[in-house]
Amino acid sequence: MIEELYYKNPYLTEFTATVTECIPEKEQYKLVLSQTAFYPEGGGQPADKGTLNDNTVLNVQSKNNKVYHYLEKPLEVGSEVKGKIDFAYRFRNMQHHSGEHIVSGLICQKFGAENVGFHMGKDVVTMDFNHTITKEDLIEIEKEANRAVFQNLPIEITIYSHEEIKDLHYRSKKEIEGDIRIVKVPGYDICACCGVHVTRTGEIGLIKLLRADKYKTGTRISMLCGERALAHFNLLAENMNRVSVLLSIKDEEVAEAVEELYQENKALESQITRLQNELFTNEINAMPTEEMKIVFKDGLDSNALRNYCNKLKEKAEKAAIVFSKDNDGYRYVMMSRSINLQPIVKELNSAFQGKGGGKPDSVQGQLIGSEQEIQEFLKKAL
Ligand SMILES: [Zn+2]
Repeated sequence: MIEELYYKNPYLTEFTATVTECIPEKEQYKLVLSQTAFYPEGGGQPADKGTLNDNTVLNVQSKNNKVYHYLEKPLEVGSEVKGKIDFAYRFRNMQHHSGEHIVSGLICQKFGAENVGFHMGKDVVTMDFNHTITKEDLIEIEKEANRAVFQNLPIEITIYSHEEIKDLHYRSKKEIEGDIRIVKVPGYDICACCGVHVTRTGEIGLIKLLRADKYKTGTRISMLCGERALAHFNLLAENMNRVSVLLSIKDEEVAEAVEELYQENKALESQITRLQNELFTNEINAMPTEEMKIVFKDGLDSNALRNYCNKLKEKAEKAAIVFSKDNDGYRYVMMSRSINLQPIVKELNSAFQGKGGGKPDSVQGQLIGSEQEIQEFLKKAL
């Protein structure tokens, strides 16, 4: 059986070993070593990163009591290799894994809920629970979890035989055969786990629970610990600061000020619509009624375009069309009180690389062409 250096000393960053197997698999080679500090993916914790004799270790997996290191190139069986662990990455994983145990332990104590999923993602770590956890619960749990950090408690790892463990009450995701590795955070959690942990809770740093989302019939909690929590805080602070500088207010007044701005903006929008409506009505009232009304009017958004056309159709016996400039062409709305517009729109679109459609009495779309060409085409078509 391979010597698992990552369990003996989770802080070991370099080691030497002998290559005992080198098996080609697809485009890669999987190596077995006499001993290794590379943690293989398991228990929700991702595989370690690093190098073997300067070759990047692409993946680490364990199967049948062997640890397989995946490389692009083969290494000779019997040769000695020097392994280097990407410790910054590993330490982050240790911090998050230990943090997860504390949070899951607290949630288990409080609600009797089980952790049914754990994923250490690139951006965030998620934990799934078979219980509803509210925003208020989350604040409480976060506070208590950080208290465990402040106490700098030892994280104790013990191997129990089946006989020895009978009376121990512990969390476990599955039935385990043989010896059981128990990770204990005194007062907070006792859990069967194959992962690599920090030695004392203080090393986890801040435990920040970002959000609780409904997930299946329970809750998914997103979390960041240590430096990643700090980086996240800095990102939020930077965003907050940009808004507060822009609005010349204090950081803590941002939410209120943005809410006010939003309401003001909504009020202005409805004022614009009201004024625009008055303007359109006056403009269109002064027009004579004709068989066909074609208007080119720039600066109208899609609502205003529809609004204008709706009024204009009262002055058109057959059809009213309004065009407004848009990037390399025009957006248009066409309405009628008497004819089916669909065949005309089809022709119009095919003549001017247009697209769009709608109901027989109201269509909209966009096309590319000059005002003169469009006018001429429509006069012939209608
Ligand atoms: Zn674990």
